[in-house]
Amino acid sequence: MTLTISVIGTGYLGATHAACMAELGYAVVGVDTDPAKIADLSDGRLPFYEPGLPELILAHTSAGALRFTTEVAEAADADVHFLCVGTPQRPDGLGADTSHVRAAVAGLVPHLRRDALIVGKSTVPVGTAHELQDLADSLAPEGVRVEIAWNPEFLREGRSVEDTLRPDRLVFGVASDAAERSLRAVYERVLGAGTPLVVSDLVSAELVKVSANAFLATKISFINAVAELCEATGGDVTAVSEALGHDARIGHAFLKAGLGFGGGCLPKDIRAMMARAGELGVDQALTFLREVDDINMRRRHRVVELATEEVGGSLLGRRVAVLGAAFKPLTDDVRDSPALNVAAQLQLRGAGVRVYDPQAIDNARAVFPTLTYADSAAEALADADLVLLLTEWSEFLELDPEQVGGLVAQRRVIDGRNALDTDGWRRAGWSYRGLGRPRME
Ligand code: NAD
Repeated sequence: MTLTISVIGTGYLGATHAACMAELGYAVVGVDTDPAKIADLSDGRLPFYEPGLPELILAHTSAGALRFTTEVAEAADADVHFLCVGTPQRPDGLGADTSHVRAAVAGLVPHLRRDALIVGKSTVPVGTAHELQDLADSLAPEGVRVEIAWNPEFLREGRSVEDTLRPDRLVFGVASDAAERSLRAVYERVLGAGTPLVVSDLVSAELVKVSANAFLATKISFINAVAELCEATGGDVTAVSEALGHDARIGHAFLKAGLGFGGGCLPKDIRAMMARAGELGVDQALTFLREVDDINMRRRHRVVELATEEVGGSLLGRRVAVLGAAFKPLTDDVRDSPALNVAAQLQLRGAGVRVYDPQAIDNARAVFPTLTYADSAAEALADADLVLLLTEWSEFLELDPEQVGGLVAQRRVIDGRNALDTDGWRRAGWSYRGLGRPRME
């Protein structure tokens, strides 16, 4: 018998999960409160950029295995319900806003006519799953037993399809053998391919995800702290990180100094983890995460400082080309984007900023409508006094420094991601500044 799956919340995570569940052979219904998103998805269109996902959505909506609706009642018959709604930072503090996960459970449960498993995938403060179990118990129709499980998601935007179908590991946080059996059935093919599985209680599963993000953020801020030392001493952080990374206990991943992390996950997840530790009376355990956050935010100010230095002390009236708006390459996501943050700061200091990004311009314009956006890298670079590389799209790394040197007013580049071919740009007569590196003429 084909399992039917519902996916509640069809943003970056949920749309991917829904399409991949259909790819695994299930009948899937995706539910979202945003009618525009549902209209797009129903027509087989993906309302955001994610390589490889549009093809899956189109294939499975056309075949009838995947459909989308704003009516949560239409999800009631599914065998397993996945919760993929957002958990953004609360407007009034550092903690996560869990109102959407609560609303999703409260919206679904009264429609259920038979026992159901609701599996949380959203990143939530530890303890949320137990609260949702209480909520579900209080709302379940007479005779219907609803169980909550947690299956945190580790996908990376830009690689989300691959990460979902071939993940590094699966984590099932469950309170019963029946829930574990259901999840094993859903992921049968993924597990069959040899994916490691960790089965735990609910609390531990919630903690895995926030701990993973806190660890990654800490690793990035660690090397960025070393970059600060390099800046004070004339060292080159790229040499330091390369040498450090060869130590198998340390590794090269997430050890690249630059403009730091952003996006819809790492910043809000470390803040939420700190806030939750405070609520639990163990705030000292995680105060170092405040430092991790501060180091990260200081990198953005450092780039603005460098830009000011490079143009002789004042940005007023200077033309600055900003390459990149997305928080990282291969996505159009601009949530807490370091690139956009820097672009906005430069504009506040009087610079004429022109931003170009291969995918994220529409989203960037929605957040910062007053910035000027270019339709191409060449248009952004035209007559620029200074060029900033802030998101390391391959399109930018492949620019020919000699050719683009002919477009700008001054051959000055700040490489906010330490990603350009330094020698090539210098040979073409550019002055080059990286982060945590000496100035190079
Ligand atoms: P998103 O903002 O792109 O998507 C959330 C979706 O939920 C939106 O489309 C919104 O309209 C919908 N929604 C909100 N309330 C709803 C409700 N009551 N019923 C139905 N739909 C509702 O966010 P996202 O990036 O997909 O993240 C979702 C969760 O997944 C977050 O907890 C995030 O931390 C976690 N996560 C995200 C990623 C990622 O790379 N984006 C990776 C792993 C985990």
